[in-house]
Amino acid sequence: MSPPTTATRGPEPERGGPVAPAGVSSVAGASLASVAGRLTTLLGGVGAPLYGVGAILTRGAGRWVMLVLFALLAVSACLPPRRQDRREIPATLALCVGLVVLWGAVAPGEHVLLAAVVAIGMVYVALMLLRPYAEIGVVLMAVTYLGSQLAFGARGDLAWQVAGAAVADLALGVLLLGIRVTTERKVDERTRALAAANDRLERLTRTDPLTGLANRRRLAEVLDGAWSRAATAGEPVSVIMVDIDHFKQYNDRYGHLLGDACLGRVATTLTAGVRPGDLVARYGGEEFAVVLADADLDLAHRIAERIRADVAGLGEEHATTPSGFLTVSVGVASIRPGAGDAPDDLLRLADESLYAAKRDGRNRVAVAPAGQVR
Ligand code: GH3
Ligand code: MG
Ligand code: MG
Repeated sequence: MSPPTTATRGPEPERGGPVAPAGVSSVAGASLASVAGRLTTLLGGVGAPLYGVGAILTRGAGRWVMLVLFALLAVSACLPPRRQDRREIPATLALCVGLVVLWGAVAPGEHVLLAAVVAIGMVYVALMLLRPYAEIGVVLMAVTYLGSQLAFGARGDLAWQVAGAAVADLALGVLLLGIRVTTERKVDERTRALAAANDRLERLTRTDPLTGLANRRRLAEVLDGAWSRAATAGEPVSVIMVDIDHFKQYNDRYGHLLGDACLGRVATTLTAGVRPGDLVARYGGEEFAVVLADADLDLAHRIAERIRADVAGLGEEHATTPSGFLTVSVGVASIRPGAGDAPDDLLRLADESLYAAKRDGRNRVAVAPAGQVR
């Protein structure tokens, strides 16, 4: 049996529960935003000089359009990358369409270089959108661009040049979007794999590898939670301690491997004997603890008796004991949490009851006086 629990409970468990998935998704979101940010900065850097050249080559209203676009891209290329905001999408789309219509009105007959730089500008703006909208945006703008060029009087060779520029523009946009979509997918896959690995790790740190039961860390967490809820509601919390009788002799007689298998069978029996919301944990060695939330001493006593009878009912041979089969001794305690006592007091009481059950002859249940805290 364990010595009094206050001395042996070990390090305090971490508080706050699993946080990994949220942390992981925010990391993924940050890297996506930085990929998008880098792309827009790159295109801004490429587009600005092109618009500058466009402003030199153009005359009339076209020159002013080029200058405004040049200034916009030059400024945005210098800004640090930032997170995208869904609320900006309608405004950005409207801006794209507006630029295209404006260009359609002033561009007919202009040099093909200008058509190309406007096209680059449209892809650039489309890339600033979130993924699903960006795909629609690229197609929509290329079509609008072509339509406006043809409707406002592109002629002869120029029409072909404009169409060529638009197709090249579309291809460039699709290529860049492909990179972006692939990056997103890879980040998503890695995020999911990382979250699953975190989950597994999280479960492992709270599981006893031999029996698959909760370990001491999980026991402390669950007991603390049950304790706080019971304190708020004025309900009792009960703990049952179970210790296999003469288990050292079992090992000596049948060997450690069979001893391990026997521990597994006892663990399964305990789990089957409690209510769905109760927690069975391996407390250490051949000792187990059960946390019964919302159970008074009477109910805890009945469950403890059932557990004892279930293990005895397994009929597991243990030839070196007086009875000839495997049994457990069980200690029960119940406390209605109040000022001045703590979960450790409940564990200590249950452990003391377990000692009493051992003293009184084993294969029995001993109960701590209700509400007693020493
Ligand atoms: P009592 O009835 O007083 O509880 O006697 P006991 O022999 O069960 O108690 P004791 O504390 O003397 O011995 C506990 C034994 O449990 C000794 C140890 O080898 C065995 N044990 C603890 N952990 C494991 C384990 O993981 N696997 C196996 N096979 N045996 C274990
Ligand atoms: Mg023991
Ligand atoms: Mg024992």
